[in-house]
Amino acid sequence: MTDQKSISAQPDDTICALATPSGAGGIGVIRVSGLGAFAIADRVSVRRGQKKCVDYSGHTLHRAEITERDGEVIDDVLLAVFHAPRSYTGEDVVEISAHGGPVPLRRIIARLLESGARLARPGEFTQRAFLNGKMDLAQAEAVGDIIAAQTGAAHRLARRQSAGFLSRAVADMRSVVLGVLARIEASIDFPEDVGELDTELCQREIAEAQTRIETLLATADRGILLREGAKIVLAGRPNVGKSSLLNALLQTDRAIVTPVPGTTRDVIEETLNLRGIPVRLTDTAGLRETSDEVERIGVARTRDSLSDADLVVLILDATAGETPEDTALRTELAQHAPLIVWNKWDLLPLEQAFPAEGLPVSAAICWNIAPLEEALAERILGGAAPAADGAAVTHARHKHALESARTRLHDARQTLEADLPADFVSIDIRGALEALGLITGETATEDILAEIFSKFCIGK
Ligand code: GDP
Repeated sequence: MTDQKSISAQPDDTICALATPSGAGGIGVIRVSGLGAFAIADRVSVRRGQKKCVDYSGHTLHRAEITERDGEVIDDVLLAVFHAPRSYTGEDVVEISAHGGPVPLRRIIARLLESGARLARPGEFTQRAFLNGKMDLAQAEAVGDIIAAQTGAAHRLARRQSAGFLSRAVADMRSVVLGVLARIEASIDFPEDVGELDTELCQREIAEAQTRIETLLATADRGILLREGAKIVLAGRPNVGKSSLLNALLQTDRAIVTPVPGTTRDVIEETLNLRGIPVRLTDTAGLRETSDEVERIGVARTRDSLSDADLVVLILDATAGETPEDTALRTELAQHAPLIVWNKWDLLPLEQAFPAEGLPVSAAICWNIAPLEEALAERILGGAAPAADGAAVTHARHKHALESARTRLHDARQTLEADLPADFVSIDIRGALEALGLITGETATEDILAEIFSKFCIGK
């Protein structure tokens, strides 16, 4: 196992970065964190009274002027002072709330840099919070997820992870598994004191941990989907109404709708909140054979776009029925098991019977769009368990770790059953513990941490 504190902790340097988006805004907040945060803030600012930042109480606000070295005032600001360890990073922190213009903010940062701070790397504040034990790895990841959440459902899930629901579930599993390990190791080290290993009890406890892992894994498909989103591709001959349907689903007018066949030449992508799932909805150029060069490129892009689709919707023109071109398309798309949608139903006589397969809709008059959304959500979610109130898995990384722990526990039980030496069981159990520790970070390597935090934005 790796000692967390040894991983790239640089307690000597003080970092700073803009924590609010760059560009103009009412205020901009610059964060300064590290051993030198207070001294640097003293160096760059003038405040009423003789007090130094270190002498202010924690969690207090102070009016100040940030000045150039020659005394020119750059901006009137508020300094928020946090003493270690009661801050976001666990270090001394000063947050400078300045006027939110790019120029004053840049000048303040330049002033901080020349006074001893260095620019923070992406995610470095959160990484320090993790290294200082303010949060575990799953919680640190949740900070990024809260910022990136695209729907309310994804946000609620990230909030729960940030509050420690997943961490506690994993900690509970680890403690069950640790109990088994302790018993096994005692039987190896002190056989005369503890007697023979109670393999039945070990089996029961491992089974308990396995059940907990299964329960958590059951939340993974939905959790990952809510966080990462899904991709739906609308396919169909030109002019069947793909762009119109995209618009009906979006209820905006962003895709180009035109009566001339084959003019949606490129792949258009929009994001849609589909029952809480962030969905990238792609309208394609169609797949017909064409001699037009531009359109041919569009068709090639369509095929690319299909390759990573979570769901393909094949749109047919209800007034034309299934044409030979449609049948060819259906064959081509068969591997994606497309959802069939009959569009332009408004043009059919009222007494028209519904099709045996597929959903009738009208993009033009927005008829039957809600059932279509329902069908899309159902197909994307598959059999995924409904959102639980408790812990949920939201990252493929967590899912893989749980699967690996599950395998190691399965191996441990087989080893126990085969009556092999307890050492062998202990190796499997340790493997399971290590896998679980990846989720909360106890066993995460420097590479894993670098990978996770590099995805954050600067200033977080
Ligand atoms: P695409 O080439 O598949 O993207 O098709 P478009 O969305 O551009 O639609 C082609 C034509 O069909 C346009 O003139 C649309 O107004 C029309 N259209 C699309 N959906 C419907 C529908 O549900 N009912 C009717 N009556 N016309 C539609």
